[in-house]
Amino acid sequence: MGLRGLADDLLGAHVSTLGGVATAPARGREIGATAIQLFTKTPNQWREPILAAEEIARFRAELARSGIRAVLAHDSYLINLASPDDTLRAKSAACFIGELRRCRALGIPWVVSHPGNYIDAPAAGLDRNARAYADCLTAVPGNVGVLIEGTAGAGTALGSTFEELRALREAMPIPARARVGFCLDTAHLHAVGYDVAGALDEVWEEFEQEIGLALLKCLHLNDSKGARGSRLDRHEWIGEGTIGAEAFRRVMRDPRLAPVIKIIETPKGDDPLRHDRRMLRRLRGYARQQTGRPNRTKHVIALRTKRSRSTAPLATVLLMLQGLAAGVLPLAHASERLSAPAHIEAQHATPCLALHDALRCALCHYAATRVVAGHTRVQSAPAIHVEPCLTRSAVAPTGGSEHLTAPARPPPALLV
Ligand SMILES: [Zn+2]
Ligand SMILES: [Zn+2]
Ligand SMILES: [Zn+2]
Repeated sequence: MGLRGLADDLLGAHVSTLGGVATAPARGREIGATAIQLFTKTPNQWREPILAAEEIARFRAELARSGIRAVLAHDSYLINLASPDDTLRAKSAACFIGELRRCRALGIPWVVSHPGNYIDAPAAGLDRNARAYADCLTAVPGNVGVLIEGTAGAGTALGSTFEELRALREAMPIPARARVGFCLDTAHLHAVGYDVAGALDEVWEEFEQEIGLALLKCLHLNDSKGARGSRLDRHEWIGEGTIGAEAFRRVMRDPRLAPVIKIIETPKGDDPLRHDRRMLRRLRGYARQQTGRPNRTKHVIALRTKRSRSTAPLATVLLMLQGLAAGVLPLAHASERLSAPAHIEAQHATPCLALHDALRCALCHYAATRVVAGHTRVQSAPAIHVEPCLTRSAVAPTGGSEHLTAPARPPPALLV
């Protein structure tokens, strides 16, 4: 790419677009990302933003300047293309068409999309969801495609198993299918019960059998706070959760996954830059390590870079113990524990027990119990200047939810 220091991979994070989409590439560059994921609008609002031609041009210029090789968008939290409610499904479709149009204008080849909630019956919901994805793709011709993300399977969410993901795509007419791939999230797979921590190769083998790894375009790399099979969608820092470092080491060293865009959606604490940079550095460290080794060095580094003075004596004792136990003790949890910033905690109806940050809040917000809401807002028609899609070689391609329900609380401003 001619840009010094740019790693030779497709690794990055979900980055904020606070200040406009054009600000995202520089944020990605700052954390050492070679790939980024972003929202093209406020994810918990129906309001469709108007992207001015100059904003689009600025985004494209910034992206080219950044050297970032792959960019993805993530769809809005409100979309439910599986809803049995015709009005809500139509509203969701209009919203999803907006997502596709903005991506086409910006030259973003993929929209990562959570399948909807079926509410009434799974088979009927799956059919509605597939038809809606196909209709939306037909409404926005061009190269922009959809990456259906495997869900954690809470409530009536579709798409938690490989069988269901395959069925969703196969229920679409062939022209639409050609523009549909998949995104898997390690935390979601773990929540559903796939043995990501203990038998990752078998998970890929099962995906290969059911769908085919060629259709896996994106991986969300997140450790988890929830137990395997818990259906709890709670992201944790890489190597510090219930999945553990070994799975991520395997992902980073698997040549079959080299062309897959890898995005972290891990807690950002009170300093997104620092934590994202730290996670990407950690993953690149794994890429250089052999699999199956104890992770002692990583833990020592984590302790040295820890922020909390209060854990320092404990960390020192644990570090000594770790030395004695030849790295057997898992020490990562002794460091870098942060409370949620007050302004984020204030947005919760009840205090969160989990330690988390802005992104985490949005994600637990997504996973949390939802309230039935009327959605009285009227959506304005998507108004957008559309340009031909820019094809980026590394990522060129060959949905969602209102749910009868709405999020219980708004996501934090950081994600906007
Ligand atoms: Zn997602
Ligand atoms: Zn994800
Ligand atoms: Zn998640």
